[in-house]
Parts: sequence; C-alpha cells; structure tokens
Amino acid sequence: MINKKDIATLAGYLDRYRRIVLLSHVNPDGDSIGSSLALYHYLQTLGKEATVLVPNDLPHFLAWLPGADKIIVGKHHRQKTARNIAAAEMIFFIDFNEEGRLKELAEPVNSNKQAVRVLVDHHPEPRIRAELLFSETQVSSTAELLFHIFKELDAEAIRYHATAVNLYAGIMTDTGCFRYNASYPGTWRAVAELIESHIDIDDIYARIYDNYSEHRMRLMGYALDRKMVILPELHTGYIWLTREELDRYGYVPGDTEGFVNLPLSVEGIRFSALFLELGEHIKISFRSKGNFAVNEFSNRYFNGGGHRNAAGGECHMSMQETLEKFERLVREYGEKI
Ligand code: 5GP
Ligand code: MN
Repeated sequence: MINKKDIATLAGYLDRYRRIVLLSHVNPDGDSIGSSLALYHYLQTLGKEATVLVPNDLPHFLAWLPGADKIIVGKHHRQKTARNIAAAEMIFFIDFNEEGRLKELAEPVNSNKQAVRVLVDHHPEPRIRAELLFSETQVSSTAELLFHIFKELDAEAIRYHATAVNLYAGIMTDTGCFRYNASYPGTWRAVAELIESHIDIDDIYARIYDNYSEHRMRLMGYALDRKMVILPELHTGYIWLTREELDRYGYVPGDTEGFVNLPLSVEGIRFSALFLELGEHIKISFRSKGNFAVNEFSNRYFNGGGHRNAAGGECHMSMQETLEKFERLVREYGEKI
C-alpha cells in the first residue's frame, strides 16, 4: 500500500527540516487529533520543533490524549498560530482533503511559500497541493495510515507509548469502536501491534466514551424522544436541534458526538442526518449504510464532503428551510437510498 519511494522522500525531509507544523481540520475529531499527536511525539523523539495547530477547540473527551495540552488552537491564539506557520519548513495536512477544512488557518498556510507540504489522509480525491501525498481510502482512518507509514519509516515509533495510545484512539474513534470502516484486515493487524505496545484499551475506551456530562446524556434522551424524525418509506431518519435546545442542555462541542448514528439503529433505516444550529449556519452530519454515497450528496447540496458512508456539510438557510430542502431531496432520491 505504501510506496517505498514516498517513505524515502519523507525520510529525506525529516533529515533536512526541523521546524514542523502539523495541521488538523476544523471541529477536530479523534482521528485528526490522535494522528497529529502520534506524529508530534515521534517528531519530538527526533528532536524536531513540532507544533500541532487546530482551527478551533477540540472536544473535552480528547483533551486527555498524551500531548493534547500542547496543541495550539488558532481561534484563541491567532498571532502565535500565524508565527508558527510562517516559520515552518515543513507542514503536514492530517485527516482532511481540502483547504476549506482549515478555516482561518488557510490564509497563513498559503502565505508560507517555502515549506514542503505532506498530506496524510484517508478521504477520497485529495484537493490539497502537496509535494508528498499519503492518500489511502481503504484504511479505516488516518491514524491507521500513519501506523503503516511508521512501520516502513521507523518501526520503533509505534513502541513509544504516547504514540501508540494516540494511534489507537484515532482508529477506535473513526471506526465507531470497530463497527464500521473496519473490514480491511490491516486495521486489525495494526491494532494487535498497538496492543503489544502495552496500551490499555479499556482505559482508552472509558476515557473517550464514558466521560460525558450528565447534560449530554439527557440531551441525547431528549433528541431521541422528541427530535428524531423517521421516514420509514424513505429509509431515512434524522435528528435536529436548535441553538435554544442546545443551550438548554449546556451544550459544549463534542456533546452531540455519535447522535447522527442513532437513527441508523432503527430497522430499515439506511440514511441518517443530524442538523445542528451552530453559529451562523446549520452544521450537518450524514451517515449511510450500503451504497448510498453521502459524500456526493453532501457535496452537491450542502457544501460538504467526506467518505461514502460518513460525511458532513453546512447550510446557510434557516433550520426549517434546511429541513424542507433535505426532505425534498430525500423524496427525489427515493429508491436510490
Ligand atoms: P462528522 O459528521 O463526524 O462531522 O464528519 C464526518 C466526515 O465528514 C468526516 O470524515 C469529516 O472529515 C467529513 N466532513 C464533516 N463536515 C464536513 C464539511 O463541512 N466539509 C467536508 N468537505 N467534509 C466534512
Ligand atoms: Mn478520519
């Protein structure tokens, strides 16, 4: 899967460059943070000056990951972020395939003309300019891809506890605890080897999934009871939450993690969506089972993208108009879902 020539190029860059920036996407998830931090720890062992930058806050359930306290959030530290990006000799783009996902970090990144760019990602059709691309869609996650890169580049890297914990967290979260996107045997081989690095997988699970606030659990109950719409004849279900409802439950980023999957547990539902009134727009998540490509759907109608069975997008209309547009489209698609 990984080309030896690309590994040699990467090794050459790592010999040559010292100031390295690792970029994660907006609304960072377990995969982008786990991958960035795994690489960060490896670069530290090489004596590099590495910095992990994210456009906005990471959710509370990822804040314990080894090295997370060193992450710089662009939204809160504009100047520091800009300085780090301007000084970088090498920039990694981790777990995303288009610059739009960098939000406000895109401008400083594009002003840096000297840095070599390396992409490490598992989304289809990367549209980021980079000298070196590690782009694989058969893997479960970017963290798994990074694992395979480490195996070729320097197998000792995965023995380092902080790196192993972060890689495992990335793979576990992006596969929804190995429920989807996990039918590639290499995923399980990677996990087996990470367990041999003495990580405590029960502890990692509990720190991520048993670490929610009481508010979040009650919001989930409310969403399921009152705000889930099931359209059985269209094999579609969705949940929608307004700003007022989120506020009522003391919403903080990460609280709605996993909500989009809930309608898919209803018999016969193959397409699900979650609509959240956040900031100036409606943030949308899509999931599907089977062949219905939600990344294409999201890209065509909701300014987004992602994977075939997991994608996201946004809409700048009101919640009501957004839901009407969605239901109209679902009816048009009909049997295709
Ligand atoms: P989530 O629904 O968990 O936010 O995202 C699911 C998948 O869709 C992830 O792979 C993520 O990278 C992608 N995604 C989410 N939101 C957007 C978006 O606004 N634009 C694009 N291009 N991809 C998105
Ligand atoms: Mn990912």
